[in-house]
Amino acid sequence: MRTEFRQDPVTGRWVIVAPDRSSRPNRVERESPGKATVTDSPFAPGNEDQIPPIILELPSRNGLPWQTRVIPNKYPALTPDANTVSTGDGFYRAQPGRGRHEVVIEHPDPAQDLATMAETEVAAVIETYLRRHRALQQTEGGLIPFIFRNHGAQAGASLPHPHSQIVALPEAPPSMRHREAMAHRHYTDEGQCIYCTILERERQAGLRVVEDRGGFLTFVPYAAEVPFEMWIVPTHHAADFGTLLDARQTDLAATLQRALRRLRDGLGNPAYNYALHSASTPDDDTPHLHWYLRIVPRRTVPGGFEWGAGVAINPSSPEDDAAFLREQSVDA
Ligand SMILES: [Zn+2]
Repeated sequence: MRTEFRQDPVTGRWVIVAPDRSSRPNRVERESPGKATVTDSPFAPGNEDQIPPIILELPSRNGLPWQTRVIPNKYPALTPDANTVSTGDGFYRAQPGRGRHEVVIEHPDPAQDLATMAETEVAAVIETYLRRHRALQQTEGGLIPFIFRNHGAQAGASLPHPHSQIVALPEAPPSMRHREAMAHRHYTDEGQCIYCTILERERQAGLRVVEDRGGFLTFVPYAAEVPFEMWIVPTHHAADFGTLLDARQTDLAATLQRALRRLRDGLGNPAYNYALHSASTPDDDTPHLHWYLRIVPRRTVPGGFEWGAGVAINPSSPEDDAAFLREQSVDA
């Protein structure tokens, strides 16, 4: 598979060049989420001949043939056997796109979604995230797992069957290093984790809080980039998502599902991305980092200024958005 990291010589930013990904099918434009059928979906039971070998499967429960499956992405951005597209020349820098790119199939039924499935089924998805997160961290060379979900065509989903993805990076990209350096600086200056400070402030103010329940705070961040952006942050300090206790998986699943139901019912099932931001090293004791899950609805397309200047224009107020989200139903 041809895939490589190229580095922008001015900013140091990375780009993954993966030309083989352009041949992947796009079915979301033809089928809206929830409209797919079992026969269509390569991720559905009975269509195993259409997918690569299974890496992990959570076994049958509640009459389902299986709960979740993890498979290699058929069109990976990173792969263990990466070949370079071209080589750097001393000025331009490139390196093979080594890593992993996996798909988490969240449910056997293509018409299900995280917002609609049973809470125990969402908990199975969280358990699958945790097991792959820990396994990838322990891969030779210590990969950095990045777990994310694209929902809807506007968020980049190419198949309607409910799934998330994991890209495991060989080293921390500049954006991750920058975040960790800023958090470290705050810790050195103030003696406290900056995310723990944010939790305290948001709880005190209450203005942007959507929900404070079960060991997680859900809120619209002070400098939200898009309308109805939400962060889910564990209220006890923890740097690495991989340290989440098994007993807390159900609480996280329920919190995530309620946040997604607020979006679905309040905003008419918008496209969204979410991503899990965890420390780049598997370490329980890192005092300055704190993992969190960031949900970004994609109701607008970034314009030229946002893309060119790198400054988001949020056309709504984070405080008003939080008040609206608090009012929404979280029932099934
Ligand atoms: Zn903290």
